[in-house]
Amino acid sequence: MANYEKLIGGNRSFYERNADFKELAGGQKPEHIVVACSDSRVAPEIILNARLGELFVIRSAGEVIDDAELATIEYGVVHLGIKSIIMLAHTNCGAVAEAQKLLRESEAGKLHFDEKAANSKLDVMAYRIYKNIAGKSNNSVDSRSAALDNLMAQIKILEDYEPIRDAIKNGLRIISGMYDINTGRVELYV
Ligand SMILES: [Zn+2]
Repeated sequence: MANYEKLIGGNRSFYERNADFKELAGGQKPEHIVVACSDSRVAPEIILNARLGELFVIRSAGEVIDDAELATIEYGVVHLGIKSIIMLAHTNCGAVAEAQKLLRESEAGKLHFDEKAANSKLDVMAYRIYKNIAGKSNNSVDSRSAALDNLMAQIKILEDYEPIRDAIKNGLRIISGMYDINTGRVELYV
């Protein structure tokens, strides 16, 4: 039985502690878009100590950017006028680990994956991350390096998307970062 009571109690202590809902209800003006992994240990608002309304957050496994993520980022950039996107990878990422497994299979000549025949979107995603990290032998063992190469591939997807490309010409900045699960530290590559 899931513990919903704990969540309801948690929400009560949240709204009793926070008094600025009236101001927030008037509209949002977040300063940064943060694209991060869905991993439960990587909540951007918590690890960056941000308040409600400060961060416009998009999360998916392996911070993979697909159509829904692109559309959400576009909303943040075009409609909310956000000028900063933080692309945040993290250590100990399960999605990247899965892709590293495929990379090791590929290096051993044992990888046989047919993207069109696959019936699991998760398998397809892992395969795509594998393609992002393939080509460098240390990526099969170095999870930080693999996570960064996957992140760079996601940034390229962003930069190749016309509305974002136009926004970059008008001052939008995309920076990358790494969150270390082991220490709680975020390193931003500005
Ligand atoms: Zn992850």
